[in-house]
Amino acid sequence: MSSKNKRIVILGAGESGTGAAVLATKQGFDVLVSDSGVIKPEYRELLDKYVILYEEKRHSTEMILSADEVIKSPGIPDSAPIMQAVAGAGIPVISEIEFAARYTQAKKICITGSNGKTTTTTLICYMMRQAGMNVGMAGNVGKSFALQVAEEDFDYYVIELSSFQLEGMHRFKADIAILLNITPDHLDRYDRHFQNYVNAKMRILQNMTRNEYFIFCSDDEITIGELERIVHTAQELPFSAERKCSPGAYAEDGLLNVSFRRDLFSMPLVELSLKGRHNLYNSMAAGITGRILDIRKEYIRLALSTFPGVEHRLERVLKIRDVLYINDSKATNINSAWYALESMETPVVWIVGGTDKGNDYSVLSELVRQKVRAMICLGADNSKLIAAFGATVPWYTETRSMRDAVKAAYNAAHAGDTVLLSPACASFDLFDNYEDRGRQFKQCVREL
Ligand code: ADP
Repeated sequence: MSSKNKRIVILGAGESGTGAAVLATKQGFDVLVSDSGVIKPEYRELLDKYVILYEEKRHSTEMILSADEVIKSPGIPDSAPIMQAVAGAGIPVISEIEFAARYTQAKKICITGSNGKTTTTTLICYMMRQAGMNVGMAGNVGKSFALQVAEEDFDYYVIELSSFQLEGMHRFKADIAILLNITPDHLDRYDRHFQNYVNAKMRILQNMTRNEYFIFCSDDEITIGELERIVHTAQELPFSAERKCSPGAYAEDGLLNVSFRRDLFSMPLVELSLKGRHNLYNSMAAGITGRILDIRKEYIRLALSTFPGVEHRLERVLKIRDVLYINDSKATNINSAWYALESMETPVVWIVGGTDKGNDYSVLSELVRQKVRAMICLGADNSKLIAAFGATVPWYTETRSMRDAVKAAYNAAHAGDTVLLSPACASFDLFDNYEDRGRQFKQCVREL
């Protein structure tokens, strides 16, 4: 869309909305930002710096409906009244990612999945920087894609894409797309229709041709089922922990192997810095990406063996009296908690609970039976958890604050155990967000 006299309205003034506003202004559009809540001071400052018109604590419907195009922040559901009005007026709605992609020639490596996006995005960016590449990291992590397109000059972007962002993408095309897994999450937002969520994830493939690469987990049944249904021409590069993928990545005889263009990259699994089967998948996805980008093997090896990990994802906090404390506060759904429990090699005192997103706890039963010594429930309402595991775990208790939860865990743990905060739930009942929950955990552990 040419910017001449065109009006762009941006709904939501968070990271993506304000980034889109800056880029749209630089591109010469007439811009209005509208947020139904209070805009954070740092974002107000950014809008002021670029002299961008904005409103907060309201949506002026008439002004909004005068837009030629609306950029919607991923947090706003289609069911919001203002979105209904925009749809009724027939105004095209796009995401910040779709908008920003129009104004950059950089190559885009895009990562989606139910779990592992931030870890894999950060790992790939780390690897590319080790190799000296000029790369920006965007999406749900760090500065928005749009703001970087407006202010930086990167050759590559590694972009984390949530299903909400993918929904607002139409002509966008990834150069390398990675789909890590698809498991039930956010079913509250998808009206409990799992297929809608799956469809959003599969949009990552849209517009890709035989010149682009699609990396996916061939152990993920839902992904495989979708690929049988969907027609696309991108070059497929699967990874698996169970079978040989060539081309692709696989584990065999204690080695991680990446086979690409009849060339093999191998490194011992024990050298991978990220532990657990889920992280093996993430490392494989990164390894394949490295080979596609023609990164020298020594840099791939270096990156995969030295990556420090990301805060709140199976983060080792401290060892106290021979008990290891692990912060996995970002495990906000069943699947991520499953992988956390699966990767535990000692008896576990499990701190779990929060806002339930429609969880089916039965998939965890076997792991809980095998590994959990004590369950510390930490939620406003723990009844579902207690119904699911109360009879399975040797002991459980209920707490309402992190301090009490950590104290209870300390008392329940034996030497050699692991205290694992891996809540399987969102955090909003007792905490501001998962970061707040993780930080409180670390603070309480340090004060033991
Ligand atoms: P996302 O950005 O998709 O939410 P994160 O990298 O932030 O993913 O990790 C979220 C949670 O999922 C953490 O508890 C992490 O240990 C776990 N996790 C990471 N990678 C995977 C994976 N490939 N499969 C399942 N769980 C994973």
